[in-house]
Amino acid sequence: MKQILVELKEMPELNIQVEEIIKTWESGKYKQVLFHIYSGMEAEMFTAYAAKRLQKLFPEADIVGTMSAGEIMDGHLIKKGILIGALFLESTTAEVFRYDNVKGNEPSVGRKIREQLDSIPEIKAAELLLPGTEFDTKELFDEIDECDKSIRIFGGYSGGHTMNSPVHYVFDASGIMFDSILVTTFAGSDFHIDIDKVIGWEPLGVPFTVTKADGHKLIELDNRPASGIYEKFLEIDRRLDSNAKEGYTFPLLAEYNGEEWLRSAIHIEEDGSLNMHGSVMEGMDIQLSYGNPASIVKQVNERLEKVHDFKPQAIFIYSCIVRKAFWERYVDLELKPFGQLCSTTGFYTWGEVIRDTESGEIVEHNVTQLSIAMREGEPSDEELPAVQVDDSVLKGPAAQMRRLTSLVYTTMEELQKAQKDLQVLNEKLRLMADRDALTGLFNRGKTEDIIYGLLDETAKNGTPLSLLMIDIDYFKSVNDEYGHHTGDLVLKETAALLDDAANRVPDGHAGRWGGEEFFIILPDTRSEDALSIADTLRKKVENHDFPGVGHLTISLGVITVSKRVNAKDMFLRVDKALYDAKEGGRNCIVKVEM
Ligand code: GH3
Ligand code: MG
Ligand code: MG
Repeated sequence: MKQILVELKEMPELNIQVEEIIKTWESGKYKQVLFHIYSGMEAEMFTAYAAKRLQKLFPEADIVGTMSAGEIMDGHLIKKGILIGALFLESTTAEVFRYDNVKGNEPSVGRKIREQLDSIPEIKAAELLLPGTEFDTKELFDEIDECDKSIRIFGGYSGGHTMNSPVHYVFDASGIMFDSILVTTFAGSDFHIDIDKVIGWEPLGVPFTVTKADGHKLIELDNRPASGIYEKFLEIDRRLDSNAKEGYTFPLLAEYNGEEWLRSAIHIEEDGSLNMHGSVMEGMDIQLSYGNPASIVKQVNERLEKVHDFKPQAIFIYSCIVRKAFWERYVDLELKPFGQLCSTTGFYTWGEVIRDTESGEIVEHNVTQLSIAMREGEPSDEELPAVQVDDSVLKGPAAQMRRLTSLVYTTMEELQKAQKDLQVLNEKLRLMADRDALTGLFNRGKTEDIIYGLLDETAKNGTPLSLLMIDIDYFKSVNDEYGHHTGDLVLKETAALLDDAANRVPDGHAGRWGGEEFFIILPDTRSEDALSIADTLRKKVENHDFPGVGHLTISLGVITVSKRVNAKDMFLRVDKALYDAKEGGRNCIVKVEM
């Protein structure tokens, strides 16, 4: 495999410039040559002319072309021109298939493509060149997805150099096509391909959930018009349209099937919905994002290492127009090292597609750089140079860019950490607000809340609810004799005994009512069982040795409610029962029912 690149500036030069291609072809070493033409020319006639001329020179060759938002020649962006990539193949068979009238016929076109791919012996990969994203790509890809899992699929959408360019076309020697797909297949046992993507955009600000979406239309985020995300955080008003760079350079980042997805916003509609570049799904969690130079460099370097080890003979780069807009004059930074490995060509796209190797799904991406490394035969023994992104510009002239993004991301990390700490503290506070500080039991407020809730349930379905109201006998004398501190310790020990008793039924709770008075709540507990728990507790306290104090007793009022009652009356009744227990000589239980 060998790749030769030629940049066309003026048409008459075509004959001269293809000399090297002709020489290589005439060497007889290659069985096939496949041409890619990437055209940044606005005038369609130039593009069509170049393809026709080329076909005349190489009548047997296959030619595929796409309008391009930037032409990549050996690791750098050329000045808006026509770039020809000649890929010479020794043993691989490349074939081009063209599908017309796609719009409105996506499922049937998808099916035809799938059948075609599956019919080619030893097929390894397929490239899709698509004009814009006007198609229902979901319907199209859903069909192609069903082809043999081993087939790697990649590609890009055509589009012009500026973001408001309305024209998208692909072409071959027969002319320009606005509603066709060009599929190039690569087959042969010696053909090897390695495809992967690099993003490097990172989440910014608060996360949102997609609550309403329809295909490419993002209607609501967190139940509010989706445009709010751009209006509030980036101060972009309803004028966001194809001219606004922000919708592209600040795309929405989502995670789907463990993969990162970026979606650029093309337009804010009148109703506040966003027209997105690519489909979005309800339930997706999304965030605004922005390019982080440090992270981009890191990811590109990781990718370069893999491509280096693959020992490619030719590389295609299909990269998003947004990356070009983001990097501006530093755009070659993430292209150049690929060109140092071997001949590298490709174009800036209006959307990238890559098939997920695990799910077999063709996924649309935005703001992504795809690198497609190819080789025939086993990797050669020849050592390739170790290459890396030369990021010195980020330390020099573009340091400001790196520092600002670093500031934003570091601040965000700190804020997120602070928010997490706050959440933990809030949870603690919430727990504390319900608790009595001395005994750790529920306080009176929480105890009342639980009782009111359970009384409601009993009113509704008659589930018996039992409550124990408890008061320590002659507690004042503990304070008087041993001091307030010892009194406190006694309260704590009693609370622990009460807690044990409460835990004898599911969802049972003990609470401190005030002073040395307590409640035990026994949901779904009938009178006899409540009485048994009360008596066990009474005996337990009676036999307990309170350190330094000795033996103490408690009195209990027990009430069981099994119908709708007035809460106030209920509290009076149980209070009276406790009073009666005191009157009855203490260390005893008085039981009532309602
Ligand atoms: P009875 O058998 O009639 O309940 O007699 P009693 O002495 O237990 O009743 P009384 O209501 O006269 O006394 C309750 C005492 O509990 C009075 C108060 O000083 C004490 N007390 C209330 N809260 C606390 C507290 O948090 N810590 C301590 N150490 N004592 C408390
Ligand atoms: Mg008392
Ligand atoms: Mg009391």
